[in-house]
Amino acid sequence: MTDFTYAVDADGVATITWDVAAKSMNVMSLAGFAELSGHVDAALADPAVKGVIITSGKKDFAGGMDLNVIAQMRAGGAQAIFDGVMQMHGVLRKIELAGMDFKTKKGGKPIVAALPGTALGIGLELPLSCHRIIAADNPKAKIGLPEIMVGIFPGAGGTTRLSRKLGAMMAAPFLLEGKLSDPKAAKAAGLIDEVVPAGDLLARAKEWVLAAKEADLVKPWDDKGYKMPGGAPYHPAGFMTFVGASAMVNGKTQGVFPAAKALLAAVYEGALVPFDAALRIEARHFTSVLMNPSSSAMIRSLFINKEALEKGANRPKVEDQTVRKLGVLGAGMMGAGIAYVAANAGIEVVLIDATQEAADRGRKHSEDLLDKGVKRGKVTAEKKAEVLGRVTATTDYAALQGVDLIVEAVFEDPKVKAEVTKKAEVAAPGVVYATNTSTLPITALSAASSQPENFIGIHFFSPVDKMMLVEIIRGERTGEVAVAKALDFVRQIRKTPIVVNDARFFYANRCIIPYINEGIRMVAEGVEPALVENAAKLVGMPLGPLQLVDETSIDLGVKIAKATRAAMGSDYPDGAVDEVLFWMADHGRLGRKANAGFYAYSDKGERQGLWEGLAAKYPLDKMQPSLADVQHRLLMAQVLEAVRALEEGVLTDIREGDVGAILGWGFAPWSGGPFSWLDMIGAARAVEICRGLTAQFGKRFHAPKLLVEMAEKGETFYSRFGGEKAVA
Ligand code: NAD
Repeated sequence: MTDFTYAVDADGVATITWDVAAKSMNVMSLAGFAELSGHVDAALADPAVKGVIITSGKKDFAGGMDLNVIAQMRAGGAQAIFDGVMQMHGVLRKIELAGMDFKTKKGGKPIVAALPGTALGIGLELPLSCHRIIAADNPKAKIGLPEIMVGIFPGAGGTTRLSRKLGAMMAAPFLLEGKLSDPKAAKAAGLIDEVVPAGDLLARAKEWVLAAKEADLVKPWDDKGYKMPGGAPYHPAGFMTFVGASAMVNGKTQGVFPAAKALLAAVYEGALVPFDAALRIEARHFTSVLMNPSSSAMIRSLFINKEALEKGANRPKVEDQTVRKLGVLGAGMMGAGIAYVAANAGIEVVLIDATQEAADRGRKHSEDLLDKGVKRGKVTAEKKAEVLGRVTATTDYAALQGVDLIVEAVFEDPKVKAEVTKKAEVAAPGVVYATNTSTLPITALSAASSQPENFIGIHFFSPVDKMMLVEIIRGERTGEVAVAKALDFVRQIRKTPIVVNDARFFYANRCIIPYINEGIRMVAEGVEPALVENAAKLVGMPLGPLQLVDETSIDLGVKIAKATRAAMGSDYPDGAVDEVLFWMADHGRLGRKANAGFYAYSDKGERQGLWEGLAAKYPLDKMQPSLADVQHRLLMAQVLEAVRALEEGVLTDIREGDVGAILGWGFAPWSGGPFSWLDMIGAARAVEICRGLTAQFGKRFHAPKLLVEMAEKGETFYSRFGGEKAVA
C-alpha cells in the first residue's frame, strides 16, 4: 500500500505527497499514519534534506480520518484506542519538533503543509502540527474540524493545538460547532497562515522552507513563557471564557452529547498542564468518547450509513436516470422550494401554477434565496443569473415537453391532484411522475394515472432548501425505474434519500405525529407543560412537542386529525388529543403564525414562554410525573411507531429508519436514531418500559411482537437487520 510518496529535489526540499490509491479524497488510516511517519523519519535523518513539504496529489488535501478505522479501533477496547491515539500523537509531535533539540530549540528542519483544497479533520490536524500552513486560493475548499458533527471531537491533537493557537474562545466555533471555512476565512480566523494563488502553492511552500529560520520552527506552546490567548482557566479573562463556554455547551447540548462535554474538558484540563501532558489528557477524553455507545451510533448513522444511502445502497439496478429537465406542478411553498434546489443543482425547471402570478411568485422564491446568498458573499451575480435562468415559470402544461421527471406539489386535495396528474400525462407521456403529498396514500393517488408504474411519492420536508431528508415512497404499483429516477434526482440535489413503502403518513410523519400527540395528551392530563417541553429537550429532541406543533400550526394538526378520524372510524385512538387541539383552534391559538399557540409570542413574533392561559382550561395535577417517565412516553411514542413501520414492511432497512429519523425530524441525534437507541438500552429493557407504560396509559405502548421476540432471543436490531442485509 502506498498512501504517501516521497521525493527529494535538487535543492534539498523533500516532498511527501498524500495520494490514496483508488479514492477521490484522501482519508487517513493507521497504515497511512505509519507510512507518513516513515517518510518523516527519512527526511529528518537525511543530511541532504533541508526541509519538507507535505501536500496532496489530489485536488483536495484530505477528507479526514477513515471512520471505518475508528470502528475497528473501538473493537480492541479502551487500551487499544488510547495506545493507537498516542501513536498518532507521537508522529504529529515528531513533525512539530522536527528533530530540534528541545532545550536549545536548534537543529530542526522546517516542515510546511501545502493544501490544494479541502482539509478536514485529521486533514487539518496534520497541518496544525507543521510549522506553517499554506493553502491554495480555492474558494470551494473547506477547512475545519467537523468531528463534533458525528459525535466525536478532534482527537489527533487538533483540540489541544487549536485551543492553544487561537485561545479557547476563538477556537470554540471550530471545535464545538465544527464550523468550516474557505481558505480566506480560515486565514482570517488564524486557522492557517497563508493563502496563495493555486498555481503558486508548491513554489511558495518551497520558498518558505528554504527561507525559514530556527525561530519559525518553534510553536508558541513550546516557547518559554507561553500564555494561552484569551487566558488559561485561572486567568481572570480565561475564567470568564470557561464559565461561559460550560454554560453555552450545556445550553446547546442539554448535556446529552458526550463529545461536546469531553471536548471542553480536554481543552480546560489541557490548558492547566504542559503541552505533552495536554495531549495525553486529550487522548484519554477521546478514548472515553469513542467507547461511549453514542459516538459509535452517531458515526454509524450520520456518517457511514448516511453516505451509503446517498450512494444508492437501495437503488434498483437499472440504468442511469439523471434528471436534466424537471417539471414542478404547483409553485406554492413546497413547489417553489423544489424548483430552487433543482435549479441550483444544474437542472432546467419548468414551474407551473394555475395562474401566471402564482408561478412567478414561485420563481421569485429562488430569486430571494439567491439574493440572500449574494448579500452574504456566497453566491456571485453570474451564478444567480445562471440559476434563475434555469427556472421557467408558466401556466402552460405544454412547456412540460422534454422533462424527464415531474414533481407535483399542488393543494393537498385528491381531486386537484388527480386533475393535474391527467393534464401532465397528456403533456409529457411516459415520464416518471412524483407527488409530494404528505398525507395521501400514493397507491390511491396513482389511480388517476394511466401509468401507475411511473407514479411515485417524493416527499420533501419544509423548508426544502434546508431539510436534508427526502422520503421516497413506493406505491403498490410503482416500478423500479421510477424508484431509481427518484433516487438519482435526490442524489443530484445532494440530499439524503430513504425509500419506504406506502402506508398512512409514510415513515417520518408517522413517527412524529405520536410524539406531538403524546405531549398534547400530557397537557390534557394536567402535566406541567414546561416539564413536557424540557423533558423532550433533555433527551436531545431539538423542539419540544408543543413548540413543534406551534411551528407547524395547530390548524394543520386539526386538519390531519379530522382526516385521520374519517379514515379510521371507530379505531381512531386520539380523541383526548383532539379535545385540546380543537379547543386551541377554536380560541384562535393556531401557533406561531397566529402569534398565539401553546406558547405566547410578542407582537414581533418572538416566542415568550408557555402560554399561561392553558392552565385555566387544563389545571395542573398536584402529582407531577418524574422526568424519566415523561421522557419514556415521548421517546416510546416515536420509537414504537418506527418498530411497527419495520414490522409492517413500510421500512425495509433499519439504516433508513435511523438516518431518516435524525434528518427528518431531529430524533435525538446522540442516540443514532430510534433503532440505535433501542439497541443501546436493549430490547429486554425496552419491553419492560413498554409494559409499565401500557399498564398506566394503555395499549398504544404495547411492545410490538418483533421487539418482544428480540428481547427473548437477546437480539439487537443491528445484529438482526444490520449491515447490507435488507429486512423484508
Ligand atoms: P401551497 O398551498 O403553498 O401551494 C400549492 C400551490 O399549488 C399553490 O401555489 C396553488 O396555486 C397551486 N395549485 C393549486 N391547484 C393547482 C392546479 N390545478 N394547477 C397548478 N397549480 C395549482 O401548498 P404547499 O405547502 O406547497 O404544499 C403542496 C403539497 O406539498 C401538498 O401536497 C402538501 O401536502 C405537500 N407538503 C407540504 C409540506 C409543508 O410543510 N407545507 C411538507 C411536505 C409536503
